Amino acid sequence: MAVTAHRKTYSKTYSSWGGVLRAPHEAVLPTARAEAAAALVEPFPNGVVPYGNGRSYGDVGLNPLGGLLDMRGLDRFIAFDPETGLMTCEAGVTLADILAVTARPEADGGGWLLPVMPGTRFITVGGAIANDVHGKNAHRLGSFGCHVEALELARSDGRVLTCSRSENADLFRATIGGLGLTGLILSATLRLRRVPGLGVETEDIRFDHLDRFFDLDAESTGTWEYTAAWIDCLATGTALGRGIYSRSRHVAGVAAQPPARHPHIGVPLAPPISAVNGLSVRAFNALYWRKLGASGRKLSLGAYEPAFFPLDAIDHWNRLYGPKGFFQFQAVVPPADAKAVTGALLGAIATSGQGSMLVVLKRFGEVASEGLLSFPMPGISLALDFPNRGASTTTLLARLEAIVVEAGGRIYPAKDFCMSARSFAAGYPGLEAFRSHLDPAMTSAFARRVGIVREDIP
Ligand SMILES: Cc1cc2nc3c(=O)[nH]c(=O)nc-3n(C[C@H](O)[C@H](O)[C@H](O)COP(=O)(O)OP(=O)(O)OC[C@H]3O[C@@H](n4cnc5c(N)ncnc54)[C@H](O)[C@@H]3O)c2cc1C
Repeated sequence: MAVTAHRKTYSKTYSSWGGVLRAPHEAVLPTARAEAAAALVEPFPNGVVPYGNGRSYGDVGLNPLGGLLDMRGLDRFIAFDPETGLMTCEAGVTLADILAVTARPEADGGGWLLPVMPGTRFITVGGAIANDVHGKNAHRLGSFGCHVEALELARSDGRVLTCSRSENADLFRATIGGLGLTGLILSATLRLRRVPGLGVETEDIRFDHLDRFFDLDAESTGTWEYTAAWIDCLATGTALGRGIYSRSRHVAGVAAQPPARHPHIGVPLAPPISAVNGLSVRAFNALYWRKLGASGRKLSLGAYEPAFFPLDAIDHWNRLYGPKGFFQFQAVVPPADAKAVTGALLGAIATSGQGSMLVVLKRFGEVASEGLLSFPMPGISLALDFPNRGASTTTLLARLEAIVVEAGGRIYPAKDFCMSARSFAAGYPGLEAFRSHLDPAMTSAFARRVGIVREDIP
């Protein structure tokens, strides 16, 4: 441990969720907002990155050998108005913490939910804002940042600024989706959403080709709140892009427990080799595709929690990929050519024989994300994991990146480990405007790799 006038630092190893990068950092573990803000003022020799709960798959939240501000100790609620749904909390509070307090089955109508819920609730409010995360209702309610009313931002010059749409509005727009590079979010005020109940009605529909996904999507997005499809990434030819389309909406009258804060089962150790491989993926996909029986359709009622956060049921599921870890790829491509481009992406993946069971295809709608570097834009988004097989996987990822950039799309920083600076600049036209809001103390392995910040720290 090193102690200076403003902070204590601990030499601590942090890793990406995909497990490909594991590196020591000089970590600061503040437990109060004033302490976190003060820690930022004294320069870090190799810059500093804010760290939420480490659920980003790649290197956005890492700064190997440099400073890291671990925000998990800032986990207090500050205010909640059950009449308006306005919640103010510290940046290290997780979405699971919020839901445990506000999504109450005994409350009239099931209480309040977060308007935007990504595939895991084990992320912090700071991380959700900094990646401007999205959920399965992006076509209706946009991204997380659309529901942030204000945030408190510490800068390394010692200022703590309130940022909102009416105060420091440009900095607010830069900080939504700003990847932790505009300063340290200390707290935020979120507008929660009242729902009719904690139950959801879900209809699953099997489809036998990518074209059919687009038909189902066209008929569903107007009437269903949450939509997404699972895809069999190894299917080829006339079965290319086959999968299961799921559409859900909130309903009243389904008995539901308050969400659990922690999973009940977990993967204690990584197996020596990845449990996810060509054989296991092919076998799983064949069974899963048939899970709806002869009718190919199923309507079910259940609690929202397992429906929205299936992976949260297993602690450290990422260890199943073995010691080499895995990459995740997520991109969005514009609507005009989405069918052809998604077909090209899935064709390249199926031909490579790589991929996993976890593949999600979904539509982003016209609700604009406000952040200068926000990922969501209108179009179709494909996300999937790839076990790390070394050069054959990174070559495939480079091929997918080229298809996306050529189509005018973009890759999601929260999931990325490989994107080039050129592809980042092509996908994010707000980059130049964003640079004027950078905090000079902030950096990350991602920010250096894609050229957002220019200094060359090891
Ligand atoms: C199972 C699973 C499912 C997922 N599903 C989705 C999904 O459906 N949609 C989606 O959009 N994402 C999804 N993600 C990705 C995840 O939501 C994001 O990566 C999220 O940002 C992680 O938040 P975190 O708190 O873990 O932050 P970290 O991963 O630790 O950090 C993320 C970014 O936030 C910055 N940051 C963290 N705290 C602060 C702060 N206080 N101030 C300033 N910057 C800060 C970091 O520097 C970094 O740039 C999923 C991830 C997993 C593991």
